[in-house]
Amino acid sequence: MANDTPDLRQIVSQINSDMAQVEDRGSVANYIPQLACVDPFQFGIAVVTADGRIVKGGHADTPFSIQSVSKVFTLTLALRQLGEALWDRVGWEPSGDPFNSIVQLEAENGRPRNPFINAGAIAVTDALLGRRTPVEAVTEILQFLREVAQDESISVDAVVAKSEKASGFRNVALANFMRDWGIIRNAPEKALDVYFNHCAVSMSCQQLALAGRYLAWGGRLGPEGPQIIPAIIARRINALMLTCGHYDGSGAFAFRVGLPGKSGVGGGILAIVPGQASIAVWSPGLNEVGNSKLGSLALEKLTSQTGWSVFAMH
Ligand code: GLN
Repeated sequence: MANDTPDLRQIVSQINSDMAQVEDRGSVANYIPQLACVDPFQFGIAVVTADGRIVKGGHADTPFSIQSVSKVFTLTLALRQLGEALWDRVGWEPSGDPFNSIVQLEAENGRPRNPFINAGAIAVTDALLGRRTPVEAVTEILQFLREVAQDESISVDAVVAKSEKASGFRNVALANFMRDWGIIRNAPEKALDVYFNHCAVSMSCQQLALAGRYLAWGGRLGPEGPQIIPAIIARRINALMLTCGHYDGSGAFAFRVGLPGKSGVGGGILAIVPGQASIAVWSPGLNEVGNSKLGSLALEKLTSQTGWSVFAMH
């Protein structure tokens, strides 16, 4: 039943109408001024299935700021380029702390717990930057996104990047602290420049779900698609998404949704059903731990109705 396309269409369309009725939509991120301007009454969903079909609903074609969902793609590129050496700079344990927390860094010699909290993602971005210029690194990230989503129109929203650069004092502190420990090797402002730009990439649910395919199909863009990364890297990224992808809300997401997922404060979530589907949802209102409120709810409904879970047979 899980792969039956007419049923999936019905489920997605029902979820879309259900979401329109929800009154408490959470609150939009306001610590990045440009994100505070986004209309919270939007919801989109796109599901790419093994046969390459895209089932979508709501504002599935509206571009939004992918924010921390971009950390999945920078991690992919860094692992492809640096391999195991990346783990000298960042760990793979859940933090149990908010995404922008600084508290563990001091106790743990400046090495972030995992690649998805801000500190870890900035460290990954610095590793990826290597000896490139920030412009070269951002171009490479964009090229990768365009390749995996097969869409040349994907780009950075410069206004959002500038807005975060002007207000990202906490990230500046994290980067400087890690520079002091040698975890970051470039000038902190260079690593942050790339980080703010990749967080400010705009994508729609459809583009994001297409971009996530390589995680659902062992590193390939679909069951028969081209191999983008080795299968083992896809497996590891899925493990990290499950345990760390929603910060201190990762346990709740595993419990309620049961899939590897990565959220962003723009309200997007990428969720992976290994071997079955790549899913993107978006709604700008966030819950108390900074994950999309309606996005999480929609995924909970979708998985309960399809039976999709990494913890169950399907
Ligand atoms: N760019 C945001 C930040 O650094 C990303 C946070 C997020 O999406 N959770 O704060």
